[in-house]
Amino acid sequence: MLVSAKEMLQKAKAGKYAVGQFNINNLEWTKAILLTAQELKSPVILGVSEGAGKYMTGYKTVVGMVNGMMEELNITVPVALHLDHGSYEGCMKCIEAGFSSIMFDGSHFPIDENVEKTTELVKICAEKGMSLEAEVGSIGGEEDGVIGKGECADPQECKKIADLGVTMLAAGIGNIHGKYPANWEGLSFETLQAVSELTGDMPLVLHGGTGIPEDQIKKAISLGVAKINVNTECQLSFAAATRKYIEEGKDLQGKGFDPRKLLAPGTEAIKATVKEKMELFGSIGKAE
Ligand SMILES: [Zn+2]
Repeated sequence: MLVSAKEMLQKAKAGKYAVGQFNINNLEWTKAILLTAQELKSPVILGVSEGAGKYMTGYKTVVGMVNGMMEELNITVPVALHLDHGSYEGCMKCIEAGFSSIMFDGSHFPIDENVEKTTELVKICAEKGMSLEAEVGSIGGEEDGVIGKGECADPQECKKIADLGVTMLAAGIGNIHGKYPANWEGLSFETLQAVSELTGDMPLVLHGGTGIPEDQIKKAISLGVAKINVNTECQLSFAAATRKYIEEGKDLQGKGFDPRKLLAPGTEAIKATVKEKMELFGSIGKAE
């Protein structure tokens, strides 16, 4: 059964490790992530962007697939199904469809409007036992066609949103979605420290986990980051393994064109990436 992300993230914050949010795109992605989490006894968050939700034909399909898969694969570790960068309307649809967690990305609204909409969602999520992630300070890079410029959040605004009663808070600390440019200046630990001090026990979320050096990830966890989003890295490893299979001509040998064979190396590659991240984040064995 799907769970809210609240308990797993509070445990992670207290235990100084982070739970990975791995975004899903289809059945292979979901299966690879769930099986790896179960094998490694790690809690996990399945992220679904609005674009991916649409691709999978809608949120109800996603909920049906994930619930079915958890039952048939005997997944017993805590799993949250989470809307990534949701609009207000997207959040309402996911609440109705049976997600266990949502992110409302109000970072592009003026702070007062972000506060107003977040307050409404805090109330609904509390009634439904769901977790809610809020965002302050837009996160750079491209997410479903929206381009932002790695900003640093205002720590006082973070406190204002955290105090509304959200479950976890994403604050821009110079992080970017997608691949990092060569001239990237790194994470702003000064901002992270200030946000962490003002928000106390609030689990903080680091978006754009792909390409941040390992030492910076570890330092961010030590300063209060308890959830790290990984998306691009699974896409890159899936694509590389699929490319290799085809370039080696394996789809032309025997029944190598069978989609179950053709997609297998990519699926295994996602598993390896998820395992690597769970090791780095320190979440292995934490679901026991
Ligand atoms: Zn993000």
